[in-house]
Amino acid sequence: MTSYHMTPDEFRAAGHELVEWVARYMETVDGMPILPDTRPGEIIASLPNKAPEDAEPFAAIVADLDAIVMKGVTHWQSPGWFAYFPANTSGPAILGDLVSSGLGQQGMLWATSPATTELEMVVVDWLVDLMGLPQEWKTSGPGGGVIQMSASDATHVALVAARHRLENRAEIGDMVAYTSAQAHSSIEKGANIAGYGHVRLVDVDDLFAMELAALEAAIAADRAAGLTPAFVGSAVGTTGTTAVDPVSEIGEIARREGMWHHVDAAYAGTAMICEEFRHYQDGLELVDSYTFNPHKWMFTNFDCNVFYVADREPLIDAMSIMPPYLRNRASDSGDVIDYRDWHVPLGRRFRALKLWFVLRSYGANGIRHHVREHVRLAHWLEAQIEADGRLELVAPTPFALVSFRHRSGNEATNALAAAINASGHSYITASQIGDVSFIRVSVGQTATDERHVERLWGLIDKKA
Ligand code: PLP
Repeated sequence: MTSYHMTPDEFRAAGHELVEWVARYMETVDGMPILPDTRPGEIIASLPNKAPEDAEPFAAIVADLDAIVMKGVTHWQSPGWFAYFPANTSGPAILGDLVSSGLGQQGMLWATSPATTELEMVVVDWLVDLMGLPQEWKTSGPGGGVIQMSASDATHVALVAARHRLENRAEIGDMVAYTSAQAHSSIEKGANIAGYGHVRLVDVDDLFAMELAALEAAIAADRAAGLTPAFVGSAVGTTGTTAVDPVSEIGEIARREGMWHHVDAAYAGTAMICEEFRHYQDGLELVDSYTFNPHKWMFTNFDCNVFYVADREPLIDAMSIMPPYLRNRASDSGDVIDYRDWHVPLGRRFRALKLWFVLRSYGANGIRHHVREHVRLAHWLEAQIEADGRLELVAPTPFALVSFRHRSGNEATNALAAAINASGHSYITASQIGDVSFIRVSVGQTATDERHVERLWGLIDKKA
């Protein structure tokens, strides 16, 4: 019988070659210009506009990977990557994903892959202890955790569960979601998708944290207008400057007002593996849901988000529909978790594998070591900036993001940002709050060490 399938032997040979290819990439990425020198449409123009009718040798595909695709790759894995937040990866994570692909599990129900579900339950429970989260969030408690694609998905689902909890008491169009003006746009987007009638972006204080008085005033005005405050999102580590909202006080307001309280710790959640950062999230006992991205700073490649709820009932109640073709004895027994009821998609892959590989391969102490090292390097850079008369900090550095500007103003700041990025070896984000331009340096790529931060500072010093 004719077969076009790659045989196991061919897979073995090509796979060994590609593992070598990735290892070589890890060894050489530091020398590559971080931004690709490519014009819009250039990659498209280099590729045929029709799929091949006939099988091509695998070597030809890899040759085009090198010659065409790599020309358009932005090197997020360069140790000179200081832009946005990291989207770091690591050997164990890549190998975990390889096994996940090889096994091709579809873990929508416990019954369709018991190991996919149970390993996920184990790793999200491990993280409850590792990050000092409330014990009730373990899958053995009323709550539980689940791995999703992104923090945006998790926040969307939290908004849906919050909406569902209030549905008998209020119209969706009257529901209001609150978050700070510095919160990530995924909260506003999630609220729009979930059908909330109103989103309030609450004012922030000098440190870019939500102002409680402004939140209280917004809630009071909305109540007076006959609306229903339904959801409040706190940030532990905003995208702009890693500001931290007063989680405890917001929790008290949420409880008093009967609102759902969600914490977005997409970036900073990883730091909670180190005890000294946990005070930033004091007040989790008054939180209904929490999300963080191992795919940012926990050496686990995209995509891997972890989402916890303190009580899983409203979530499952909102998301669960059981068509006849999915019915099975395990689900009917109520003894298992079917994670399809914890998010929007039905199908789900074995993401827990890569996180399990990372947690075991680094150990909690290994992750703590690298997180602390990134934070130490960020503070070193912060100290250089603070001591330099040409520059000034625009926000504190609670984690590993340094936010600063040129004292001469926006033009000088933007010129400095452009000069850093033109170096090719270091890449930062030029950002703005209000009418103030500033530079974000996010230290957190897996391989970033002292040399890379010193090289960046050398460049800032020269170009400022
Ligand atoms: N929340 C915060 C604080 C973020 O910084 C980000 C992305 O940087 C997100 C949410 C969105 O993350 P994701 O890409 O996983 O949706």
